[in-house]
Amino acid sequence: MVETKKTFCRFCHVFCGLEVDIEDNTIIAVRGDHDNPVSEGYTCPKGRAEVERINHPERVRQSQKNVDGQFQPIDTSTAIDEIGDKLRQIIDEHGPESVAVYVGCGGHRTASGGPWYIDKWLRSFNSHRLYTSMTIDSPSLIIAYDRLYGGPLPLTVFDIDHADSAMFVATNPIVSHQWSMPQSNPATRLKKALKRGMKMVVIDPRRSDIADKAHIHLQVKPGEDATLLACLLREIIDNDWYDKDYVANYVSGFDELCTALKPFDLSYTEQRTGCAAADITEAARIFATAKSGAAVSGTGLHMARHQNLATQLVMTFNALCGRLDRRGGMTHIPGTLAPRLAPAGERQPFPISLRTEHRSRVRDIQGIVGLFGYQEMPTNTLTDEILTAGKGQIKALIVNGGNPALVFSDTNTTIKALNKLDLLVVNDLFMSATAKHADYVMAIKHPFERVDIPMLADTFTPFSFQQYSEKMVEAEDDVIEEWEFFWRAAQRMGVDFSLPGVASDSNPSADDIIKGLSPTARIPLDEIKAASPSGQAYDNKITEVGGIIPDMICHDDRRLAAGHPEVISELAEVYAEQVFDNGSYTSQQDFEFRLITYRMREAYCTTGQNLPSLQKKRSYNPALINPDDMQRLALADGDLITIESGHGKIEAIAEANNTMGKGTVGLAHGWGDPADDRPVREKGSNVQYLIPRDIDYDKLTGLAQQSAIAVNISK
Ligand code: SF4
Repeated sequence: MVETKKTFCRFCHVFCGLEVDIEDNTIIAVRGDHDNPVSEGYTCPKGRAEVERINHPERVRQSQKNVDGQFQPIDTSTAIDEIGDKLRQIIDEHGPESVAVYVGCGGHRTASGGPWYIDKWLRSFNSHRLYTSMTIDSPSLIIAYDRLYGGPLPLTVFDIDHADSAMFVATNPIVSHQWSMPQSNPATRLKKALKRGMKMVVIDPRRSDIADKAHIHLQVKPGEDATLLACLLREIIDNDWYDKDYVANYVSGFDELCTALKPFDLSYTEQRTGCAAADITEAARIFATAKSGAAVSGTGLHMARHQNLATQLVMTFNALCGRLDRRGGMTHIPGTLAPRLAPAGERQPFPISLRTEHRSRVRDIQGIVGLFGYQEMPTNTLTDEILTAGKGQIKALIVNGGNPALVFSDTNTTIKALNKLDLLVVNDLFMSATAKHADYVMAIKHPFERVDIPMLADTFTPFSFQQYSEKMVEAEDDVIEEWEFFWRAAQRMGVDFSLPGVASDSNPSADDIIKGLSPTARIPLDEIKAASPSGQAYDNKITEVGGIIPDMICHDDRRLAAGHPEVISELAEVYAEQVFDNGSYTSQQDFEFRLITYRMREAYCTTGQNLPSLQKKRSYNPALINPDDMQRLALADGDLITIESGHGKIEAIAEANNTMGKGTVGLAHGWGDPADDRPVREKGSNVQYLIPRDIDYDKLTGLAQQSAIAVNISK
């Protein structure tokens, strides 16, 4: 008999509501849940492919131990005991900081085992070596928050449903589901907003899906976002389009900012960015003279040159135009897991620096604070922390729901580092590119085999919302939940790892762990569990506006620091750069193309490449090239090409694409397993071979420049 249950998708960070059909303890169908108040029945092809992921014939259903280069099955309890003993030995010999954990995208989509839990696990034995995918794609958000607000302002979400204007910078929400934060059903919500009259500006080197629908698309040259954003802000100020009362009341450093923006005039910016002066002025006018709206950025910006400056300039549009803590602008969603806020006017800021006390041994990069207060180190330093001898050298690494072999810069060095470890443990559903180098591969449960809440999205939904999912099916294999692996390893190591209400020597349930991770939640887990299986909207779906600005700004003067000294000096740096006539910088003189990244509908980071329904559409990540460039290079669709940077070269499959500007090539991240012998047409191209980890990197976040990479293309 077929039974239908409700849950939510964990393929990506959006957590759309799902209905699943189950027969004989097997998932046989997945579709959208129309009763889910947030996603309202929406799903994308990846979510619908969950039925393939859980039932995949190549899933790791039994933990594996690498014995002399061959993987052999090992029962999970024995594996945890052996790993616990080895970790104890490594800590005793090399100190607690020799043990590190990397949490990838997949590792964020479990409430009980996310980085907020693993941070506590590491701290229980005095290691601060937590690394996550956040410092691979968006650490500039943390730096910009820290500088503009002075600390962790409650997270804000773009209230697009009530906005009169929108500025999207290097993000394509229709594919990424990201406008400030992940959101469900982006195409429909955008369509409704445009029909309502919302005006849209898109800044992107590529004419993406939303750029096509924009009132103004500024097709900026790759790497020149900061120049363009500076000019747009200057236009808003020079034309008196900013909100003077808001600036007078809530913004500091305005005069310093104006002075620093002065050099970025229209003719200079037009020449440097390739955007027409008239379009720049019109884009500034559309955004700033609207009654409401917000400017938001995506990973295309956060991974590019001058990422911290550019991210903060995007936030500065909202500060100068009075769009923070405003209806139709950036609003705060209280969520369910944080304590209840005091009434407006009585709120107190959280005076925590978002930059931690820890610095990397290599390149001296400071750690940062992530969601729910966990602290992490810059991921782009991890391989060198493994390879560099001396006190603090990392000897053991646990990879939780991530795939460094595909996403860390400088692939050859990454593989060398993975192979150098005394212990590498990978928790994954599949024998991933990284798992192939592991000492142990732990068989973990698919999300449908465990209870969960969408903890990561708690404050990202359009209104306060939470949902409890029971298990859809009972796991029949010797598989384990991520939190359970760490919990039992700590017990074996003799470490006192506990959570509020959960003693270290107990055998807790996932519910106990979730409660222990959110002990002051304003909506207790039992209440969330008792609500509808489709999830529950709270606060009558009303987003309260006001009470955040200025109450919770952490700077002493309770003002947004638009003229932060680091911003002023970075603007001067950008202006001082030597840019040659062909648009290149000094180190790029010998390269004709700039490589940018794009997201594919058929995969989410490194997930989905092995699922038949998605693979049928795309089995590799094509190199997208402007048709004129294709013709000039005598290339045809499907040709095998070589892309070469100053650091490395890869093979790729060429594809003409008229959304790309001339001189720009697009390639998605997350493909091309180095250990996979199949041709590139079947496994894709690994862009990280082109990117050096230690040359063009950001001095504050440590992130290697992942976009606007100077490359040449040959047949
Ligand atoms: S958008 Fe994300 S959460 Fe929603 S169905 Fe697609 S993969 Fe799943």
